[in-house]
Amino acid sequence: MVTPPYQALRALAENDRKFVILSARQEELTKRKNTLLNHLKTEQDKFTTLQAQHAHQLQTQSAREVQLRQEEERIVERRKQMSNMGGSKGAKYLERDIDTAARALQQLEEQVIRAMEESDRIGKHLEAFRSALDDMGARYAKEIEEINQNLELSRSESIIVSGERAALVDAVNPKFLSLYDRVRKRFPADPVAIAREEGCESCHRSIPKQTLNLVSVGDTLYQCPGCNRILLAATEAE
Ligand SMILES: [Zn+2]
Repeated sequence: MVTPPYQALRALAENDRKFVILSARQEELTKRKNTLLNHLKTEQDKFTTLQAQHAHQLQTQSAREVQLRQEEERIVERRKQMSNMGGSKGAKYLERDIDTAARALQQLEEQVIRAMEESDRIGKHLEAFRSALDDMGARYAKEIEEINQNLELSRSESIIVSGERAALVDAVNPKFLSLYDRVRKRFPADPVAIAREEGCESCHRSIPKQTLNLVSVGDTLYQCPGCNRILLAATEAE
């Protein structure tokens, strides 16, 4: 059986199409991987910020607690002084002083409670965040591993496909190649289209009967009057 001249072009076009599809897939996989990595990084940064906020809050809390203890000790000290002074005028001043200090102490106690509540609130948030981040990290790691495997497969397929190209180019009538390359710039994935009686496979523009006949002979290339793709005859199976 004689292979029609356009069959070689068709094989080349098929090879190029495969390569374009593989490249697009690789790009898509890489993009997805970067999205996951960026998202993970953003969440990790948020977690680190929250951790720092929690540490800072714990420091604030313990500073308030120290202040509170010191203030309590001071009041105890003044009370001792007062009882030593008996009912003197100085003792009256000291008593007022202690009253003021006691009010301040109450405020300080409230501050300590608020600081503890805030530490607790951030701490709980931090724990929830940590567990969500762990889950996310595990999920993403799994997906990234799958992506890497798929990328590796797809890349080795690309290497095979591009390795086959030179022989396919050699098989094509050289006078077809420059048109093919020009059309391929415009339609990288499908520079060729099957010409059918119903019209162009790609754009569905009707094709004159005479052109159809010439296309099936295959000595010259014809472009679709609609989309400019190179028209190829359908095989018997098609
Ligand atoms: Zn067309």
